[in-house]
Amino acid sequence: MNGTLVVAEHLRGELRDVTRELVTAAQELGDRVAVAVIAKDPGRFDVNLRGVDEIINVGVEQEEFENDVYQRTLEELIADRQPRAVMLGFTVNSMGYGPAVAAKLRLGFASDVHGLAREDEALVATRSFYGGKVDCELEFPAGRPVLLLIRPTVFAPAADGGSATTTEATVELSASRARHVRFEEAAAGDVDITTADFLLSVGRGIGDKEAIPQFEQLADKLGAVLSVSRPLVDAGWMPNARQVGQSGKTVKPKVYLALGISGAVQHLAGMKSSGTIIAVNTDPEAAIFKVAHFGAVADLFDVADELEKLS
Ligand SMILES: Cc1cc2nc3c(=O)[nH]c(=O)nc-3n(C[C@H](O)[C@H](O)[C@H](O)COP(=O)(O)OP(=O)(O)OC[C@H]3O[C@@H](n4cnc5c(N)ncnc54)[C@H](O)[C@@H]3O)c2cc1C
Repeated sequence: MNGTLVVAEHLRGELRDVTRELVTAAQELGDRVAVAVIAKDPGRFDVNLRGVDEIINVGVEQEEFENDVYQRTLEELIADRQPRAVMLGFTVNSMGYGPAVAAKLRLGFASDVHGLAREDEALVATRSFYGGKVDCELEFPAGRPVLLLIRPTVFAPAADGGSATTTEATVELSASRARHVRFEEAAAGDVDITTADFLLSVGRGIGDKEAIPQFEQLADKLGAVLSVSRPLVDAGWMPNARQVGQSGKTVKPKVYLALGISGAVQHLAGMKSSGTIIAVNTDPEAAIFKVAHFGAVADLFDVADELEKLS
Protein backbone atom coordinates (compact mmCIF):
# COMPACT_ATOMS: atom_id res chain seq x y z
CA MET A 1 0.00 0.00 0.00
CA ASN A 2 1.29 3.41 -0.76
CA GLY A 3 0.39 7.04 -1.02
CA THR A 4 -2.78 9.06 -0.80
CA LEU A 5 -5.23 9.20 -3.69
CA VAL A 6 -7.36 12.32 -4.10
CA VAL A 7 -10.30 12.50 -6.50
CA ALA A 8 -10.70 15.96 -8.07
CA GLU A 9 -14.12 17.58 -8.27
CA HIS A 10 -15.17 19.76 -11.17
CA LEU A 11 -18.39 21.31 -12.38
CA ARG A 12 -19.19 22.97 -15.70
CA GLY A 13 -15.57 23.06 -16.72
CA GLU A 14 -14.28 24.57 -13.46
CA LEU A 15 -12.22 22.83 -10.83
CA ARG A 16 -14.06 23.07 -7.52
CA ASP A 17 -12.27 24.65 -4.56
CA VAL A 18 -12.55 21.48 -2.52
CA THR A 19 -9.98 19.83 -4.80
CA ARG A 20 -7.27 22.23 -3.65
CA GLU A 21 -8.29 21.67 -0.04
CA LEU A 22 -8.07 17.91 -0.47
CA VAL A 23 -4.50 18.25 -1.70
CA THR A 24 -3.57 20.15 1.48
CA ALA A 25 -5.37 17.57 3.63
CA ALA A 26 -3.56 14.74 1.84
CA GLN A 27 -0.21 16.30 2.66
CA GLU A 28 -0.98 16.00 6.38
CA LEU A 29 -0.30 12.29 6.04
CA GLY A 30 3.18 12.85 4.67
CA ASP A 31 2.78 10.30 1.86
CA ARG A 32 3.02 10.69 -1.88
CA VAL A 33 -0.08 12.45 -3.25
CA ALA A 34 -1.79 11.44 -6.49
CA VAL A 35 -4.81 13.34 -7.86
CA ALA A 36 -7.21 11.54 -10.18
CA VAL A 37 -9.18 13.68 -12.63
CA ILE A 38 -12.17 11.86 -14.10
CA ALA A 39 -13.57 13.80 -17.05
CA LYS A 40 -14.14 13.80 -20.80
CA ASP A 41 -11.07 15.94 -21.23
CA PRO A 42 -9.23 15.60 -17.90
CA GLY A 43 -6.18 17.52 -19.12
CA ARG A 44 -8.15 20.78 -19.20
CA PHE A 45 -8.20 20.94 -15.40
CA ASP A 46 -5.06 22.33 -13.84
CA VAL A 47 -4.40 20.20 -10.78
CA ASN A 48 -0.65 20.66 -10.88
CA LEU A 49 -0.81 22.11 -7.39
CA ARG A 50 1.91 22.34 -4.80
CA GLY A 51 2.19 19.04 -3.00
CA VAL A 52 0.86 16.91 -5.86
CA ASP A 53 3.30 14.21 -7.01
CA GLU A 54 1.22 12.63 -9.72
CA ILE A 55 -1.82 13.53 -11.80
CA ILE A 56 -3.85 10.58 -13.07
CA ASN A 57 -6.00 11.60 -16.02
CA VAL A 58 -8.90 9.24 -16.55
CA GLY A 59 -10.74 9.98 -19.78
CA VAL A 60 -14.41 9.00 -19.74
CA GLU A 61 -17.35 9.77 -22.02
CA GLN A 62 -19.17 11.88 -19.49
CA GLU A 63 -18.42 15.59 -19.26
CA GLU A 64 -20.06 16.05 -15.88
CA PHE A 65 -20.16 13.99 -12.69
CA GLU A 66 -22.03 10.71 -12.83
CA ASN A 67 -22.27 8.63 -9.71
CA ASP A 68 -21.72 5.20 -11.24
CA VAL A 69 -18.87 6.39 -13.45
CA TYR A 70 -16.94 7.78 -10.47
CA GLN A 71 -17.70 4.71 -8.36
CA ARG A 72 -16.45 2.27 -10.98
CA THR A 73 -13.40 4.37 -11.78
CA LEU A 74 -12.41 4.76 -8.15
CA GLU A 75 -12.78 1.03 -7.53
CA GLU A 76 -10.41 0.34 -10.42
CA LEU A 77 -7.89 2.94 -9.30
CA ILE A 78 -7.85 1.55 -5.76
CA ALA A 79 -7.42 -2.02 -7.01
CA ASP A 80 -4.62 -0.93 -9.30
CA ARG A 81 -2.72 1.39 -6.96
CA GLN A 82 -3.52 0.15 -3.49
CA PRO A 83 -3.39 3.58 -1.84
CA ARG A 84 -3.06 3.80 1.90
CA ALA A 85 -5.71 6.55 1.99
CA VAL A 86 -8.31 7.87 -0.44
CA MET A 87 -9.65 11.39 0.04
CA LEU A 88 -12.85 12.80 -1.40
CA GLY A 89 -14.73 15.97 -0.48
CA PHE A 90 -17.62 15.70 1.98
CA THR A 91 -19.83 16.95 -0.83
CA VAL A 92 -23.09 15.93 -2.42
CA ASN A 93 -21.19 14.22 -5.26
CA SER A 94 -18.84 12.17 -3.11
CA MET A 95 -21.49 11.22 -0.59
CA GLY A 96 -23.22 9.44 -3.44
CA TYR A 97 -20.43 7.02 -4.27
CA GLY A 98 -17.67 7.22 -1.63
CA PRO A 99 -19.42 5.19 1.08
CA ALA A 100 -20.44 2.58 -1.52
CA VAL A 101 -16.82 2.13 -2.62
CA ALA A 102 -15.66 1.86 1.00
CA ALA A 103 -18.32 -0.73 1.81
CA LYS A 104 -17.68 -2.78 -1.32
CA LEU A 105 -13.89 -2.86 -0.93
CA ARG A 106 -14.07 -3.14 2.86
CA LEU A 107 -12.05 0.00 3.48
CA GLY A 108 -11.93 1.96 6.71
CA PHE A 109 -14.30 4.91 6.40
CA ALA A 110 -15.07 8.26 7.98
CA SER A 111 -17.15 11.17 6.70
CA ASP A 112 -17.12 14.89 7.55
CA VAL A 113 -13.45 14.68 8.60
CA HIS A 114 -11.95 18.00 9.73
CA GLY A 115 -8.66 16.93 11.26
CA LEU A 116 -5.95 14.45 10.28
CA ALA A 117 -2.83 13.14 11.94
CA ARG A 118 -0.38 10.28 11.83
CA GLU A 119 0.30 8.63 15.16
CA ASP A 120 3.02 6.04 14.82
CA GLU A 121 1.76 4.19 11.79
CA ALA A 122 -1.93 4.70 12.53
CA LEU A 123 -4.02 7.32 10.73
CA VAL A 124 -6.16 9.43 13.07
CA ALA A 125 -9.16 11.26 11.61
CA THR A 126 -11.18 13.78 13.61
CA ARG A 127 -14.87 14.32 12.99
CA SER A 128 -17.75 15.85 14.95
CA PHE A 129 -20.94 14.47 16.38
CA TYR A 130 -24.04 15.96 18.01
CA GLY A 131 -24.24 19.10 15.90
CA GLY A 132 -20.59 19.97 16.40
CA LYS A 133 -20.65 19.71 20.20
CA VAL A 134 -18.39 16.66 20.41
CA ASP A 135 -15.24 15.92 18.46
CA CYS A 136 -14.19 12.31 18.07
CA GLU A 137 -10.87 10.83 16.94
CA LEU A 138 -11.08 7.68 14.87
CA GLU A 139 -7.90 5.64 14.74
CA PHE A 140 -7.29 3.48 11.69
CA PRO A 141 -4.51 0.96 12.24
CA ALA A 142 -1.76 0.58 9.68
CA GLY A 143 -2.26 -2.06 7.03
CA ARG A 144 -5.84 -1.21 6.30
CA PRO A 145 -6.70 1.27 3.53
CA VAL A 146 -9.08 4.01 4.49
CA LEU A 147 -11.48 6.26 2.55
CA LEU A 148 -12.17 9.67 4.05
CA LEU A 149 -14.69 12.35 3.10
CA ILE A 150 -13.06 15.66 4.03
CA ARG A 151 -15.15 18.62 5.21
CA PRO A 152 -14.87 21.56 2.77
CA THR A 153 -13.47 24.95 3.87
CA VAL A 154 -11.34 23.50 6.70
CA PHE A 155 -8.01 22.93 4.95
CA ALA A 156 -6.30 25.81 3.15
CA PRO A 157 -6.40 25.55 -0.64
CA ALA A 158 -3.16 24.26 -2.17
CA ALA A 159 -1.36 26.85 -4.28
CA ASP A 160 -0.57 26.61 -7.99
CA GLY A 161 2.89 25.73 -9.19
CA GLY A 162 3.39 22.04 -8.52
CA SER A 163 5.78 19.72 -10.29
CA ALA A 164 3.65 16.63 -10.73
CA THR A 165 4.13 13.96 -13.34
CA THR A 166 1.08 13.03 -15.41
CA THR A 167 -0.11 9.56 -16.27
CA GLU A 168 -3.12 8.43 -18.25
CA ALA A 169 -5.42 5.69 -17.03
CA THR A 170 -8.29 3.97 -18.76
CA VAL A 171 -11.14 2.24 -17.06
CA GLU A 172 -13.53 -0.31 -18.55
CA LEU A 173 -16.98 1.10 -17.98
CA SER A 174 -20.27 -0.46 -18.85
CA ALA A 175 -22.92 1.95 -20.11
CA SER A 176 -23.64 4.55 -17.45
CA ARG A 177 -27.05 4.12 -15.87
CA ALA A 178 -27.48 7.86 -15.51
CA ARG A 179 -26.96 10.70 -17.93
CA HIS A 180 -26.49 14.32 -17.13
CA VAL A 181 -28.97 16.13 -19.37
CA ARG A 182 -28.67 19.84 -18.57
CA PHE A 183 -28.30 22.32 -15.75
CA GLU A 184 -31.40 24.17 -14.59
CA GLU A 185 -30.64 27.60 -13.24
CA ALA A 186 -32.24 28.27 -9.89
CA ALA A 187 -34.99 30.85 -10.09
CA ALA A 188 -33.56 34.28 -9.35
CA GLY A 189 -34.06 35.07 -5.70
CA ASP A 190 -35.95 38.12 -4.53
CA VAL A 191 -32.84 39.43 -2.77
CA ASP A 192 -29.15 38.77 -2.86
CA ILE A 193 -28.19 37.94 0.73
CA THR A 194 -24.50 37.87 -0.23
CA THR A 195 -24.41 41.65 -0.64
CA ALA A 196 -26.26 42.64 2.56
CA ASP A 197 -24.36 44.48 5.31
CA PHE A 198 -26.70 43.27 8.03
CA LEU A 199 -28.31 39.85 8.02
CA LEU A 200 -30.98 38.83 10.48
CA SER A 201 -30.79 35.07 10.22
CA VAL A 202 -33.36 32.75 11.74
CA GLY A 203 -33.25 29.00 12.28
CA ARG A 204 -35.44 26.13 13.38
CA GLY A 205 -35.66 27.76 16.81
CA ILE A 206 -38.48 29.96 15.50
CA GLY A 207 -40.57 26.81 15.60
CA ASP A 208 -43.27 27.58 13.10
CA LYS A 209 -43.83 28.95 9.61
CA GLU A 210 -46.35 31.37 11.09
CA ALA A 211 -43.45 33.16 12.82
CA ILE A 212 -41.77 34.14 9.52
CA PRO A 213 -43.75 37.40 8.93
CA GLN A 214 -42.72 38.64 12.39
CA PHE A 215 -39.04 38.31 11.45
CA GLU A 216 -39.58 39.78 7.98
CA GLN A 217 -41.04 42.85 9.65
CA LEU A 218 -38.29 42.96 12.26
CA ALA A 219 -35.62 42.75 9.55
CA ASP A 220 -37.32 45.63 7.72
CA LYS A 221 -37.39 47.75 10.84
CA LEU A 222 -33.74 47.04 11.66
CA GLY A 223 -32.60 47.70 8.10
CA ALA A 224 -31.48 44.09 7.81
CA VAL A 225 -32.08 41.39 5.22
CA LEU A 226 -33.69 38.15 6.39
CA SER A 227 -31.73 34.94 5.83
CA VAL A 228 -32.31 31.44 7.17
CA SER A 229 -30.77 28.09 7.98
CA ARG A 230 -31.44 25.13 5.73
CA PRO A 231 -34.31 23.41 7.62
CA LEU A 232 -36.52 26.43 6.88
CA VAL A 233 -35.81 26.07 3.18
CA ASP A 234 -36.27 22.29 3.26
CA ALA A 235 -39.64 22.83 4.94
CA GLY A 236 -40.64 25.22 2.15
CA TRP A 237 -40.97 28.18 4.52
CA MET A 238 -38.44 30.34 2.70
CA PRO A 239 -36.89 30.29 -0.81
CA ASN A 240 -33.52 28.72 -1.47
CA ALA A 241 -31.99 32.12 -2.23
CA ARG A 242 -32.22 33.00 1.49
CA GLN A 243 -30.25 29.97 2.75
CA VAL A 244 -26.87 30.50 4.36
CA GLY A 245 -24.38 27.65 4.46
CA GLN A 246 -22.44 24.99 2.65
CA SER A 247 -25.30 24.11 0.32
CA GLY A 248 -26.64 27.66 0.33
CA LYS A 249 -24.92 31.03 0.06
CA THR A 250 -21.63 32.09 1.61
CA VAL A 251 -22.14 35.47 3.25
CA LYS A 252 -19.86 37.99 4.88
CA PRO A 253 -22.03 40.83 6.20
CA LYS A 254 -20.78 43.41 8.67
CA VAL A 255 -23.32 42.05 11.18
CA TYR A 256 -24.80 38.55 11.33
CA LEU A 257 -27.52 38.22 13.96
CA ALA A 258 -28.43 34.54 14.38
CA LEU A 259 -31.67 33.73 16.20
CA GLY A 260 -32.37 30.09 17.06
CA ILE A 261 -29.59 28.63 14.92
CA SER A 262 -27.56 25.82 16.50
CA GLY A 263 -24.38 26.37 14.47
CA ALA A 264 -24.02 23.11 12.54
CA VAL A 265 -20.76 22.98 10.57
CA GLN A 266 -22.63 23.26 7.30
CA HIS A 267 -24.20 26.50 8.48
CA LEU A 268 -20.95 27.91 9.90
CA ALA A 269 -19.21 27.20 6.59
CA GLY A 270 -21.36 29.91 5.03
CA MET A 271 -21.13 32.67 7.64
CA LYS A 272 -18.15 32.25 9.95
CA SER A 273 -16.23 35.06 8.23
CA SER A 274 -18.92 37.66 9.00
CA GLY A 275 -17.69 40.89 10.62
CA THR A 276 -19.60 40.71 13.89
CA ILE A 277 -21.57 37.61 14.77
CA ILE A 278 -24.28 37.86 17.41
CA ALA A 279 -26.05 34.68 18.48
CA VAL A 280 -29.19 34.14 20.52
CA ASN A 281 -29.96 30.63 21.65
CA THR A 282 -31.58 29.02 24.67
CA ASP A 283 -28.89 26.32 24.72
CA PRO A 284 -25.64 27.60 26.28
CA GLU A 285 -23.76 24.72 24.61
CA ALA A 286 -24.93 25.60 21.08
CA ALA A 287 -22.00 25.46 18.64
CA ILE A 288 -22.90 28.89 17.22
CA PHE A 289 -21.46 30.44 20.39
CA LYS A 290 -18.01 29.14 19.37
CA VAL A 291 -17.92 31.57 16.45
CA ALA A 292 -20.07 34.37 17.93
CA HIS A 293 -18.43 37.62 19.03
CA PHE A 294 -21.47 38.36 21.22
CA GLY A 295 -23.99 35.88 22.50
CA ALA A 296 -27.12 35.76 24.60
CA VAL A 297 -28.51 32.62 26.19
CA ALA A 298 -32.09 33.75 25.85
CA ASP A 299 -35.40 33.07 24.20
CA LEU A 300 -35.26 34.51 20.70
CA PHE A 301 -38.82 35.78 20.89
CA ASP A 302 -37.98 37.84 23.99
CA VAL A 303 -34.98 39.32 22.16
CA ALA A 304 -37.10 39.97 19.06
CA ASP A 305 -39.67 41.81 21.21
CA GLU A 306 -36.95 44.00 22.72
CA LEU A 307 -35.48 44.77 19.28
CA GLU A 308 -38.95 45.65 18.06
CA LYS A 309 -39.27 48.23 20.81
CA LEU A 310 -35.89 49.78 19.96
CA SER A 311 -36.46 50.15 16.24
C1 LIG B 1 -24.60 18.01 2.98
C2 LIG B 1 -25.30 18.94 3.94
C3 LIG B 1 -25.38 20.27 3.61
C4 LIG B 1 -26.01 21.16 4.49
N1 LIG B 1 -26.06 22.47 4.15
C5 LIG B 1 -26.57 23.35 5.03
C6 LIG B 1 -26.58 24.73 4.74
O1 LIG B 1 -26.16 25.18 3.66
N2 LIG B 1 -27.10 25.57 5.66
C7 LIG B 1 -27.61 25.15 6.87
O2 LIG B 1 -28.05 25.97 7.67
N3 LIG B 1 -27.63 23.83 7.15
C8 LIG B 1 -27.14 22.93 6.26
N4 LIG B 1 -27.20 21.60 6.55
C9 LIG B 1 -27.98 21.17 7.72
C10 LIG B 1 -27.22 21.30 9.02
O3 LIG B 1 -26.51 20.11 9.27
C11 LIG B 1 -28.18 21.54 10.20
O4 LIG B 1 -29.14 20.51 10.23
C12 LIG B 1 -28.89 22.88 10.14
O5 LIG B 1 -27.98 23.94 9.93
C13 LIG B 1 -29.63 23.11 11.45
O6 LIG B 1 -30.39 24.28 11.34
P1 LIG B 1 -30.81 25.06 12.63
O7 LIG B 1 -29.61 25.48 13.40
O8 LIG B 1 -31.78 26.11 12.22
O9 LIG B 1 -31.66 23.97 13.44
P2 LIG B 1 -31.32 23.15 14.75
O10 LIG B 1 -30.02 22.47 14.65
O11 LIG B 1 -32.53 22.34 15.05
O12 LIG B 1 -31.15 24.28 15.87
C14 LIG B 1 -32.20 25.05 16.37
C15 LIG B 1 -31.62 25.86 17.53
O13 LIG B 1 -32.59 26.74 18.03
C16 LIG B 1 -32.45 26.80 19.44
N5 LIG B 1 -33.75 27.24 19.94
C17 LIG B 1 -34.91 26.55 19.96
N6 LIG B 1 -35.90 27.34 20.47
C18 LIG B 1 -35.32 28.54 20.75
C19 LIG B 1 -35.83 29.76 21.27
N7 LIG B 1 -37.13 29.92 21.57
N8 LIG B 1 -34.97 30.78 21.46
C20 LIG B 1 -33.63 30.66 21.14
N9 LIG B 1 -33.13 29.52 20.65
C21 LIG B 1 -33.97 28.48 20.44
C22 LIG B 1 -32.06 25.40 19.84
O14 LIG B 1 -31.39 25.41 21.10
C23 LIG B 1 -31.15 24.98 18.70
O15 LIG B 1 -29.79 25.28 18.99
C24 LIG B 1 -26.59 20.69 5.70
C25 LIG B 1 -26.48 19.34 6.03
C26 LIG B 1 -25.85 18.47 5.16
C27 LIG B 1 -25.74 17.02 5.55
